[in-house]
Amino acid sequence: MHTTGHLRLDAATLVFATSLLAFSLAILCALLARGGASKRLGLHEWSASLAFASLAFLLFYFRGTAPWVLTYLVANTAMLAVVPLTMMAYAKLLKVEASSGSIALSSAVGLSGVLAVFFLGTDPQFGIFSMSMAIGFQLVLAALMVATAPGRHSAQWRVVLNIIHALSALAFFVRAGMALNGQGMLVSPVANSSAQIMALCVAALYFTVATVVFIVMVSQRQQYEMSDRLRRDGLTGLYTRTAFFEMVGNKRCQSQAGGYALVLMDIDNFKRINDSFGHAGGDAVLAHAARMLSQLTRLSDVAVRYGGEEFCVLLRACSAEEAGRFAQRLVEEAGRQSVRMKDGRNVSFTFSVGYACAPAGQTSQGVESLEAVIEQADQALYAAKAAGRNQARPASTVALLAC
Ligand code: GH3
Ligand code: MG
Ligand code: MG
Repeated sequence: MHTTGHLRLDAATLVFATSLLAFSLAILCALLARGGASKRLGLHEWSASLAFASLAFLLFYFRGTAPWVLTYLVANTAMLAVVPLTMMAYAKLLKVEASSGSIALSSAVGLSGVLAVFFLGTDPQFGIFSMSMAIGFQLVLAALMVATAPGRHSAQWRVVLNIIHALSALAFFVRAGMALNGQGMLVSPVANSSAQIMALCVAALYFTVATVVFIVMVSQRQQYEMSDRLRRDGLTGLYTRTAFFEMVGNKRCQSQAGGYALVLMDIDNFKRINDSFGHAGGDAVLAHAARMLSQLTRLSDVAVRYGGEEFCVLLRACSAEEAGRFAQRLVEEAGRQSVRMKDGRNVSFTFSVGYACAPAGQTSQGVESLEAVIEQADQALYAAKAAGRNQARPASTVALLAC
């Protein structure tokens, strides 16, 4: 056994232990992935990544005793699949695109060095250089995916993940630099140098930390999706009225700068649709109207099924003019829709819309002010119905009429 400073660590033992570690974590992720919903969240890909890592490290351990084709060619090829598989996992969990071009390019760079060493007998340092550059680059790509993923889900965990990505990438770039300086043999997989011992410790740390963080992020995502499902109406997929007041009533949402608008809409003569096409036909129209509504709203808006055939949208950071345009657009779009029934008949529907605005200064007054705005929008909706339906009315018009 070789002594490195105060640490008495042996590279071969570390390589074997890391293989076992990756194997155990791969089994853990595969077991967790059995719970259906996790499949599309990337746990399968993560487990596969760890399995490849485990295989690669096991083969590295046998370097010198097992055939060179296994401990060099197969082992390095398996290593090149490790980070790209985590990128596929991130793509599923964080809903981002993995850049397949960059993955292919980096893998080709890594493999070219390995093939040159294996088939042409090139200096093995060239293989260490190309492999280290390729994996370092792949880790940078993975970090970019994590950093640029949309939304603020698991923000702190994403930072932790990128710290370990950066540390691991650094370890690979140091190895590449050493290979370039003619010290490549010091960092071959089972070399007992301080640099290689450090690199192996970083690898073990990477597998542990990144896997734990990934599992935590998957579970956070599942919890979020479950609670989101509970807040939505089964037929339309829009938020329920109760969820709406819970979400918008809390201080965080109320303290938005720029004011908000509240738009209430009701399907005209919906009873007739039910009478002519049955309850199921009415349901299809409701679901269609809700889809249309979702398409017209921004991510920051909250679309709600407010009552039976009544919907409401809270438009954040919205001026009176914008609210007016939105309300008018709703009326026009609804008039253009045609819903196909099971029996082949088409149904059209119209919306009556009332809207009211809360200027910027009023946004921090809590639920009471929200209820006052809803009341104004409701009166505007009533006025739109009274004026013949299939139209939008602002709250101010009601106030003017009342004067
Ligand atoms: P108006 O133009 O004045 O709004 O007339 P309307 O017929 O649309 O309004 P009314 O309030 O008289 O009738 C609404 C109907 O909506 C009554 C109710 O049976 C029906 N409804 C409520 N919820 C659902 C639902 O989930 N599915 C179906 N199919 N119908 C529903
Ligand atoms: Mg109605
Ligand atoms: Mg109604």
